[in-house]
Amino acid sequence: MVIFGASGDLAWRKLVPALFNLYDSGHLPDQFFILGVSRTNWDDREFRGQMQDAVTRHCDTQSGKCSDFLSHLYYHRLEYDQPEDYKALATLLKHLGQKTGAKDNLLFNLALPPSLPPVVSRKLAQAGLSQPGPNHQGWIRVVVEKPFGHDLESSRYLNQTMAQAFSEDQIFRVDHYLAKETVQNIIMFRFANAIFEPIWNRNFVDKVVIIASEKLGVGHRAGYYEGTGVLRDMFQNHMLQLLSLTAMEPPSMWAADRVRDEKTKVFRSLRPFTSQAVDQHLLLGQYGAGKEIKGYRQESGVAQTSLTPTFAMLKVYVDNWRWQGVPFYLVSGKRMAQKVTRMVIFFRQVPHSMFRQVLGQDITQNRLFLNIHPEEAISLSFQTKGPGPVLCLRTVRMVFDYAVDPSGLSLGAYEKALLDCMQGEQMLFWRQDGVELCWSFLEPVLNRCESCGDRASRLHTYTPGSWGPEEVKTILPDWPEPAL
Ligand code: NDP
Repeated sequence: MVIFGASGDLAWRKLVPALFNLYDSGHLPDQFFILGVSRTNWDDREFRGQMQDAVTRHCDTQSGKCSDFLSHLYYHRLEYDQPEDYKALATLLKHLGQKTGAKDNLLFNLALPPSLPPVVSRKLAQAGLSQPGPNHQGWIRVVVEKPFGHDLESSRYLNQTMAQAFSEDQIFRVDHYLAKETVQNIIMFRFANAIFEPIWNRNFVDKVVIIASEKLGVGHRAGYYEGTGVLRDMFQNHMLQLLSLTAMEPPSMWAADRVRDEKTKVFRSLRPFTSQAVDQHLLLGQYGAGKEIKGYRQESGVAQTSLTPTFAMLKVYVDNWRWQGVPFYLVSGKRMAQKVTRMVIFFRQVPHSMFRQVLGQDITQNRLFLNIHPEEAISLSFQTKGPGPVLCLRTVRMVFDYAVDPSGLSLGAYEKALLDCMQGEQMLFWRQDGVELCWSFLEPVLNRCESCGDRASRLHTYTPGSWGPEEVKTILPDWPEPAL
C-alpha cells in the first residue's frame, strides 16, 4: 500500500492504526509493505518514528507486534507534480516488491487535500503505475477520500481525471460512515425481517428523522471547514447515504452494484429544491460563544464575519411510490448537546384514541431507533399500561444492543473499508453516479444559501451544547424530544 499524504492527519490518526489492527488480527497478507509518500523530508526511520505513536495507542508494546508492524513501513519523499519523483517511486516499488515478496497487488491511498487526487492520478498514469503491465499478475486499486469535489462541476472533473488513469472498478471512494457495523446492519435489519418490510412505507410511516450531531466544534480542521460548511461536509455524503439506506428498495441480490443501483434510484427520486423549498425546508445555524467555549467565529482560522453554517436541518421528500408525502428530516451540526448518530422512524398515530377522554393524554407514536453512535443498538418504542391502580399509559422500549453479544470480530470503520479495498468489494463505496446525483440535488440549495444577499439573515446563531437554533421548530415543531 502506498499512502499519499503520509505526513497528514488522516494517515496518522486513522489509516496507519487501522492497518496495524488488521495486521494484529491476521487480516494482512504475510508479505506486504506500507510506503508513506509526501513532501515532508523524512526517511524510513523518521516515518516509523512518527507512526510509532499512532500505533502504540492500539497495542501492547511488550508483545513485539508493534515493532514487527513498523518494520513493514517505508517512506519516499515526493513532490506531487514532479514526473521524475514518480519514476523514482516506480523504481522503489519494484525494489520493495522484490525485497518483501509483496509484488502483485498495489493499493494507492490518496489521503490528500481535495485538489491533489487529480494531479497524482495523472502522474501515476504517466509513470505507468495506474494499470497492471503485461508481467504484472495482481491488481492495482486507488482509494480516494471524501470530499468528492466541492460541487457538481469539480466532482465531474475529479472523476474525469481519475477515469483517465483508473477504471471504475479500480476506484474506491471511501465514506467511512458506510463501513460502520451498525450502518451495514440497517440493510440486514430491513431485508432479513419479514415483520418490518410490510410497514416500511407511506401507509405506516409518518416521518423519518436522521441525526448526526457532534459535541465538539471544528477544532484544528477550521481551515478546511471554513470553505466547506456543514452541507458539503455532512449532507452531500453521510446524510444522503443514511437516507438512501432507509429509503431504498430491496435489491434482487447481495452484490455491490445491485445495492448501489437501488441507492442511486433513491438519489434520483429526491424532490428537487425550488427557491421556495429552500426558504421553507432548510434551516442553517452557526454556533455562538458559550461559557468558556469559543464561538465558531472565534476559532483560529475562521473569519470574524464568517457565514459558514455549522448546523443544518433539511426537510427532504423522496418522490416515489413507497415514500410519497413522507418527510425525511436530516439534521447535523457541531457543538450540539450530544454526539449522536441515529435514524428514527416515526410510525403513524393510532387511527382513533379510545384513551384520550379517560386519560386526557395523546398516545405517543411508535418509533424505531436505529442507533449508530454512541450506542450501537436498535430499539422499538411502544405503549404499555403504567403499573398501579390509576389508569395511565407509558412508553417503553424494546432494545437490541450490539455490544451485548459481540460474537465475531467487529472491525472499525477504517479497518473494514481498507479490508474491503484489498478484497475488491465495492459495496460500501460510492459510485460516481451517486456522487453526481447528490451534488445535483444539493447545488440549488448551496447556490441559494451561498450567493444570495440574504445569506446573513438565513444563518441563526445557537448556543453551544444546545440542539441547534430555536428557529428549527418552524420546520420540525417537536424537535428534538421525540427523536432522542
Ligand atoms: P491534511 O490536511 O493533513 O493533508 C495531508 C497531507 O497532504 C499533508 O500532510 C501534506 O503533506 C499534504 N498537503 C496538505 N496541503 C497541501 C497542499 N496545499 N499542497 C500539497 N500538499 C499538501 O489532510 P488529512 O490527512 O486530514 O485528510 C486527507 C484527506 O482525507 C482530505 O481529503 C480530507 O478531506 C479527507 N478526510 C480526512 C479525515 C480526517 O479525519 N483527517 C476524515 C475524512 C476525510 P506534505 O506537505 O508532507 O506533502
